[in-house]
Amino acid sequence: MVKCSVKFCNRNANNDMGISFFRFPAETARCDEWMRALGRPDLQGIHADKMHHSKYRVCGAHFHQNSFSSMLMNRLKKEAVPIIFPPAAGYGPFFGEDNVEENKQTEFSPGECNLPFFQC
Ligand SMILES: [Zn+2]
Repeated sequence: MVKCSVKFCNRNANNDMGISFFRFPAETARCDEWMRALGRPDLQGIHADKMHHSKYRVCGAHFHQNSFSSMLMNRLKKEAVPIIFPPAAGYGPFFGEDNVEENKQTEFSPGECNLPFFQC
């Protein structure tokens, strides 16, 4: 099963159909950047090519709106790095923190390309 590798994010491809899951970049420098951003020291040192082909994915909720190159938010710009994380993860920066309570009520329906982010 494809699931998000961000700490405290429980999204997976079965339950969260409206959201895209992205492979790690195959390029070493960018892959390292993602790992650092994710705060997953356990993954560091794994070869970028291996990560790219591994089961690890990062869901679209961790990318700023500007990081997407398509309206459907299923494509990332080349330089995109995950920057949005659940407060419980203990690292940031956090975006949309003020809206967390409101957004909890909102369903993320398949095909919907707008916010809300941050339902981790
Ligand atoms: Zn996620």
